[in-house]
Amino acid sequence: MNKYTLPELTYDYAALEPSISARIMELHHSKHHAAYVAGANGALEQLAEAREKNDFANINKLQKDLAFHLSGHINHSIFWKNLAPTNSDRPDGELGLAITEFFGSFEAFQLHFNAAAMGIQGSGWAFLAWDSLGQRLIIEQLYDQQSNVATASVPLLMLDMWEHAFYLDYQNVKGDYVKAFWNIINWADVQTRFSLASTKTHGLLLG
Ligand code: MN
Repeated sequence: MNKYTLPELTYDYAALEPSISARIMELHHSKHHAAYVAGANGALEQLAEAREKNDFANINKLQKDLAFHLSGHINHSIFWKNLAPTNSDRPDGELGLAITEFFGSFEAFQLHFNAAAMGIQGSGWAFLAWDSLGQRLIIEQLYDQQSNVATASVPLLMLDMWEHAFYLDYQNVKGDYVKAFWNIINWADVQTRFSLASTKTHGLLLG
């Protein structure tokens, strides 16, 4: 069985300073993300064992563990790629046009995204997604690692709002963390995800 593995970052832990410190990046990647990878592998192993024994007494726990840890692995894998040491300001080209089309303006999109991020109760994420059914951009609040999202959404730009993502640097002032996020976005990566998502149906057979 293929196991999930922790992806290498394409930049150093210190590369995103001062927006995100090296200490947070190191802990976040090598400890938190690594734990989601281990958790996803563990859940799959336990599900395989349950099938072998035909013992599904813990099925609800195992399915929730799989959703939580695998989503945690996916979310962080996207998040690292969404970030870059230097920000290319704001997206131009097709993504920029789509943001204007679906949110009115880049500024309105940014205000909406910030509000979604700041409004999360407890742990979660805010993200820009492509809705494969409606063929449109939407913003979503994701609770924990896996809840409160539409099933046909393809994440394009994700912001981790768990306290482990910012507390060492910003303590309770999470608005400054959200503000700093806009200085380290890899818009080329977001544009690539948008192009792929909006031209492929990912086998969802929605049309
Ligand atoms: Mn995280």
